[in-house]
Amino acid sequence: MLDKKDRIFTNLQGEHSPHLKEAQKRGDWDKVQNIASLGSDKIIENIKASGLRGRGGAGFSTGMKWSFVPKDSQLPVYLVVNADESEPGTCKDRDILRHEPHKLLEGCLYASIAINAHTCYIYVRGEYYREAEVLQQAIDDAYDAGLLGKNAAQSGWDLDIYIQRGAGAYICGEESALLESLEGRKGQPRLKPPFPAMIGLYGCPTIVNNVESIAVISTILRRGHEWFAGIGRANNTGTKIFCISGHVNNPCTVEEAMGIPLKELIEKHAGGVRGGWDNLKAVIPGGASCPMIPKGICDTVIMDFDALKEVQTGLGTAAVIVMDKSTDLIKTIARLSKFYMVESCGQCSPCREGTGWMWRMMERLVLGEASEDDIDHLLEVSKKIEGHTICALGDAAAWPIQGLVRHFRGDIEARIRSRSLV
Ligand code: SF4
Repeated sequence: MLDKKDRIFTNLQGEHSPHLKEAQKRGDWDKVQNIASLGSDKIIENIKASGLRGRGGAGFSTGMKWSFVPKDSQLPVYLVVNADESEPGTCKDRDILRHEPHKLLEGCLYASIAINAHTCYIYVRGEYYREAEVLQQAIDDAYDAGLLGKNAAQSGWDLDIYIQRGAGAYICGEESALLESLEGRKGQPRLKPPFPAMIGLYGCPTIVNNVESIAVISTILRRGHEWFAGIGRANNTGTKIFCISGHVNNPCTVEEAMGIPLKELIEKHAGGVRGGWDNLKAVIPGGASCPMIPKGICDTVIMDFDALKEVQTGLGTAAVIVMDKSTDLIKTIARLSKFYMVESCGQCSPCREGTGWMWRMMERLVLGEASEDDIDHLLEVSKKIEGHTICALGDAAAWPIQGLVRHFRGDIEARIRSRSLV
C-alpha cells in the first residue's frame, strides 16, 4: 500500500481548495528555477530514469516519447495535453483538473522545456465544463503571479497555455483525432507514421501526453527519479490513480502504488465487493476496452502494465469496473459494443461495419437467439477487426467481446440452450 508521504496528489479528493495559494502550500510551483535550470536533456534523462510510462492507456515511456522530437526543428514545437477523458469507467483526469490543476500546469512548464515548446494546448472533454472553469481560473492565476507567460516563474522560459474544449466525441481522445479537432476539422484519426512527434499539430512536431502523465512530472523532478522508480517494480514504476466503480461499497478515485494487488485495492479503498469478495464475478481492470477477468484471476493479480498483460488484459486507464454475481455479463458487453459502434468515426470499413455487426450479434446473444457456432463466428470477426484498423478503436471494440468469450463462454452457451428449450 502506498505510504502517505509518497502521495503525489494530496488533494485528489478535493478536501482543500484547488487555487494557487493553497496549491503552493501543498508544494506546487516550489523551486521552479532550480528544476527549469536542468534544461531539456537532463529533464528528459530524469523522466526516462524514473520509468514513467504514459498514463493514458498505451503505457509508452514518457521520456522516450519526448526524445523523439527533433532537436534542430526549425518549426515551432507544441505540447498538447489530452484531457479528453472519455473511456467508460475513467474519471481520474477529471479529479486532477478540478482539484489539482496547478500540478498539471507546472508539469506543462517542465515538459515544454524538455521538448522545446513555447505553446501548450490542453484539450478538455466537452462535458467537463466545471473542470474547464477551474483549470481556466488556475491558468489566469498563474499568469497573474508570473508563473506562465514571458519568463514563466523566472525560469527563463516563455510558455503560453490555452484550453480548447472538445464537443463530446470519444474518438477525439485518440491523439491524432485530437489534433485534427484542434485544427478545426472533424475528429478523425490520422494514418501513422508519420507520428505527431515529427508531424503533428499544424504540421509541426508535437507531443501529446495524458493529464496524469504531465501532472506527476513536477513531483518526480522535485523528489528525484530514484524515488519514483523505487515504487512498484521494474518497468512498472511509480504511483497510479485508480478509479474504482461498479458493485463495490464505496466507489472512489484513489492514488496507490503501481503493482498493488487488485483484491487489496478494492477491499482497502472501495469498501470491498458488494456482498463480499466471494460475490465477485468479474472485473474490467483498465476501462471499458480492456478484456474482463474472472474472480479466479482477480484473487491474485497485481495492478500493473505487465502483470495484467500476462493475464490477457491491460492496465489501460486503470479504471476498475467491478461486477458481482448479479451482473448479466453478456448484456454488459453488448452495451459496450453499442458504445464503440456509436463512437466509431466511420473512416475504415472493419471498424465502421464490424462494430455494428458485433453489436447486433451481441444483442442476439443477450436473448440467446443464436447458435453455438455463432460464438466462434463472433470471435473470428473480432479478430478480423483487431489490428486491422487505422486507430485502436477497432481493438477496443473487439477486446471486451474476446474477454467475455475467453472466460464466460459457458454462460453464453447456457443462455442459447435455455432459449432453445423454450
Ligand atoms: Fe475511425 Fe474506427 Fe477506423 Fe479508428 S478504427 S479510424 S474510429 S473507423
